Amino acid sequence: MIAVPDSVSTAIPEIRTELLAWFDASGRELPWRLGTEGARDPYRVWVAEILLQQTQVARGLHYYDRFLEAFPSVQALAEAPIEAVLKAWEGCGYYARARNLHRAAKVIVQNGFPADYSGWLALPGVGPYTAAAVASLAFGEARAVNDGNVRRVLARLYGEARPTDAWIQARADALLCPARPGAWNEAVMDLGATVCTPKAPRCAECPLSAHCAAFKRGTPTAFPAPKVRAAARMVQAVAVLIGDEREAVLERREGGLLGGLMGLPMLEFGPQQTEVTVLEELCARLGARPGELLGQVQHSMTHRQITLHVYAAASALPRQTVADAALSRLDHKALELLRTRQESLFAAPLMDGSSV
Ligand code: SF4
Repeated sequence: MIAVPDSVSTAIPEIRTELLAWFDASGRELPWRLGTEGARDPYRVWVAEILLQQTQVARGLHYYDRFLEAFPSVQALAEAPIEAVLKAWEGCGYYARARNLHRAAKVIVQNGFPADYSGWLALPGVGPYTAAAVASLAFGEARAVNDGNVRRVLARLYGEARPTDAWIQARADALLCPARPGAWNEAVMDLGATVCTPKAPRCAECPLSAHCAAFKRGTPTAFPAPKVRAAARMVQAVAVLIGDEREAVLERREGGLLGGLMGLPMLEFGPQQTEVTVLEELCARLGARPGELLGQVQHSMTHRQITLHVYAAASALPRQTVADAALSRLDHKALELLRTRQESLFAAPLMDGSSV
């Protein structure tokens, strides 16, 4: 059977021209886009691509600026202790990315920046998306990126409800502008982030609407169909706060739940155990005396929904300065419980009706 070319494939030259013209006029100004197109600073692009995975640009900009201020060069990052890197990463989640950035920085300081896709792909923590982004944006290599924005734009453009990764990559490779690969990748990502958005695409302003199958069908948001996600696992755990929100006993966690990060001493428990017996087990390990329940915090991770029962406890164990440690958002929420309790105690009305 002879394959019939689709309307996008027959219009690739126009699509490139129209999208790049739109990008030249309306592309986002972002701090890692300083310098010449196709020859951006590889350090800034690499950090941005790692840091902004799973994070929207608007929210990630603050973290990006903070990280670049702490480590303005790959040398500064490589020479920093891992604790300082994790501290500067605080709030970004997925701390394995910060550890891999640090490891890769040491490799780069020894060998120099890789100048092509396969060199980037060989670095710790760098997958096909990041390697393609840095190779094209910083070195002008013709490599098409494939991320969530690209997936959405191409699924709609071609009218494909269930695109596989291989399907997306093949279309992205075919569309990539060989003369301006870095700008092309930035343009598709910007279109997805600012015009072809998940819930409310602004098709009337889109430079690709004349070619877009989803727009012609009148159902752009039907593409791509939502992915079926596995249900999050419910996790119960007990943590103890020995100290206060400024100085507390902290431990380095081991295992799958926030492993590697510092945090309040914590113990997970299963359906056969009770909160009280787990609290006793945790306090026995620490040589601590259990105190009152401070409250519960809920925390969602990609595949887990955590309920953390936070208790006060007393012990002579040495305390650490909380502000100096890289803590997860879960631990910050737990510490916040104490502050909220203190505020509500101070705000409680006195017998004469006034408050402190
Ligand atoms: S026309 Fe609409 S659905 Fe199609 S690419 Fe543009 S914004 Fe997305």
